[in-house]
Amino acid sequence: MLKKILSVCFLIMLVCCGCGKKDEEPLVNDLNIITNRGELVVGVKTDTYPFGFYDEKGHFAGYDAALARLIARGILGSDKKVKFVPVTAADRMMKLYSGDVDMIIATMSITPKRQEILDFSNSYYTAGQAVLVKKDSPVKTLRDLNGKRAIIVFGSTSERSLRTAVPNVGIVGYKTYTEAFKALKDGKADAIVSDDTILLGLSLKDDSVKLLPKRYSKEPYAVAFRKGAESKDLIKAVNNVIEIETRNGNLKKIQESYGIK
Ligand code: GLU
Repeated sequence: MLKKILSVCFLIMLVCCGCGKKDEEPLVNDLNIITNRGELVVGVKTDTYPFGFYDEKGHFAGYDAALARLIARGILGSDKKVKFVPVTAADRMMKLYSGDVDMIIATMSITPKRQEILDFSNSYYTAGQAVLVKKDSPVKTLRDLNGKRAIIVFGSTSERSLRTAVPNVGIVGYKTYTEAFKALKDGKADAIVSDDTILLGLSLKDDSVKLLPKRYSKEPYAVAFRKGAESKDLIKAVNNVIEIETRNGNLKKIQESYGIK
């Protein structure tokens, strides 16, 4: 008898929770929230030219910001309906999960570890890890950093890969790429290890540094979302925009305008 009562209770619970339905609507749907709000809130970097930075008028600019505007146009019909929130590599996930932003477009690579806690769009760009040194540096490869000091930015993929690839390197961490670059110039370490695109952006107007030619990883950049059913429709919509803007050549044009094609 008790068994019967328990099974009925369990069935009622399933129905109430909607767990019995296959194509269940999530309680929260981020795409609906954004369309009702009429504004897309995106976390972008401000320290990683040419992906996320402030232009001379103080506006958010770069490839990531441009992609955010295209997504706003695709979802809300206007590239003006986007609000940018500055993020860093270290605080971007926190800002996503605290609800400060709807998504992150911030030179963020898809990695298996991150996929455990985040959902990603399809990739919209591929970078590779590289090493930036002072022009007169004897360092020629990543391995040469053994016994030396290297700079990383907290929360970036190089923080992890550097420890694995060069076990005897002294790691010096900074919160932003602006601080990291200043530290290299001030001689606080022998190199910065990060994505080639970011390092190229840092070194563009400075001939006291050089980017070493070898690449040590593939960094597929993608838009990042909170993991779960709430993001499903939003990811579909974003992938749709990425596909359309790839096919019509807009993404390529933006990349070319920033010299990253
Ligand atoms: N793409 C790398 C990452 O996702 C490095 C860029 C960054 O620091 O954001 O960690």
